[in-house]
Amino acid sequence: MIDVTDLVVSYGTAIALDHVTLAVGKGEMVALLGPNGAGKSTLANTLAGLLAPASGTVSGTVRVEGRLALVPEGRQLFPDMSVADNLALGGWRSGQRDPAPVYELLPRLAELAGRRAGVLSGGEQQMVAVGRALMSRPQVLVVDELSLGLAPNITADLAAHLATLNREQGLAVLLIEQNARLAFELCSRAYVLESGQVRAEGACAELADDPRVASAYLGGA
Ligand code: ATP
Repeated sequence: MIDVTDLVVSYGTAIALDHVTLAVGKGEMVALLGPNGAGKSTLANTLAGLLAPASGTVSGTVRVEGRLALVPEGRQLFPDMSVADNLALGGWRSGQRDPAPVYELLPRLAELAGRRAGVLSGGEQQMVAVGRALMSRPQVLVVDELSLGLAPNITADLAAHLATLNREQGLAVLLIEQNARLAFELCSRAYVLESGQVRAEGACAELADDPRVASAYLGGA
């Protein structure tokens, strides 16, 4: 689904991703952890085609138009537009106009369809952002900070939706998270990105046992 090899991305002379290699397979849920400024959003935006690599390759399904969808950091909804119109924008590239399939997957969005996105709660807005991404019928979803600013129970609810999409629709997910506990619960494998480099990778169960990862990301657990 996603195959990233030796990826280098920079902003002017500042290198944000320094020879990053990672992969997400079909139907996999993979986590990308890392502190602020590690380069996580840069990777998400490069996968979505919003940033161009200085060198290295991004290949796989990700290169096929519309097969990868991004749930961007901070949701990036149009607050004055209705939920339905925000969803419609997610389908413009693929020509998908009918939100019905998305309402079927996330029924709460049908109830919110006529509301202005800006008046919704943070959790509802994040659900709209996920729904908007699903409008392009992607095979892989890149979720940048699902939990940002949300209460734990709201995050857990959204996470359960992603897990269901993964299990029932075979949707592959790259979950970019600062909340390692959430990421380890949802995903089978993870990468740890620090200062633009992959510093650790492996099965979540193994990473959770790695003292360095545990102290940095699980509060010493
Ligand atoms: P956060 O969790 O805070 O969003 P992140 O892991 O997503 O962090 P990035 O936003 O990808 O990290 O940033 C990686 C590095 O690139 C940081 O040093 C950041 O300051 C720098 N950076 C990000 N965006 C830009 C930009 N538009 N111009 C210049 N430098 C940038």
